[in-house]
Amino acid sequence: MSNPSVSRHRVLVVEDEEKLARALHESLDHDGYDVTVIASGDEALQAASTGAFDAILLDVMLPGLDGFAVLEGLRSRGLATPVLMLTARDALSDRVRGLDAGADDYLVKPFALPELHARVRALVRRGGRTDLRLGIADLVVDRLHRKATRAGQELVLTPREFDLLAYLLQHAGQVVPREMIARDVWHQDTRGTTLDNVIDVHLVRLRRKVDDGFTPRLIHTIRGLGFVLTESQA
Ligand code: CA
Repeated sequence: MSNPSVSRHRVLVVEDEEKLARALHESLDHDGYDVTVIASGDEALQAASTGAFDAILLDVMLPGLDGFAVLEGLRSRGLATPVLMLTARDALSDRVRGLDAGADDYLVKPFALPELHARVRALVRRGGRTDLRLGIADLVVDRLHRKATRAGQELVLTPREFDLLAYLLQHAGQVVPREMIARDVWHQDTRGTTLDNVIDVHLVRLRRKVDDGFTPRLIHTIRGLGFVLTESQA
């Protein structure tokens, strides 16, 4: 029995093959996860849009919306919940399509359960539950509708500025180095002077929109380290 005071990671399994769904449910439950199984794409998108899950295992071939459509739907709603695609076909095009659509990892069927467990552990470590509405001081970022307000006034942000603000807010109080921004907001593995400059330009514009005319200032530059979003003087 797991200790009920310890909150268990919540995993959504989207799989229409009953036997496999049952095996995944039992084995993840046994490993201490709180498992929900859903067999159709449409229901999966609804359930996952609540942001209540720490990781999603997503089959590609599903009744209703297929796995790609579910994933695209989630990402377009601003949900960053880590997704592991389960694909029956070892087709390169499927893998590329999944990763392009925002999957974090994929596993080709049939797979061994220990392999799946290792991947799920990695996903949960990486991700964590997604909050659709985040806020600090009088700043509110609504990731479902991709809207940000400060003291109730809507901030007019470009999509990239929005992503950057949501990312800084997710890491509020921590210094976020440019490496992390390059990797997670620009999706670039390598970073160079040009990208650093682009990031800096976006940061300056974002800070103007978020902080000019409001107190306290929220976005701070930590020389030589990166940026921090915090209410207190950095
Ligand atoms: Ca299937």
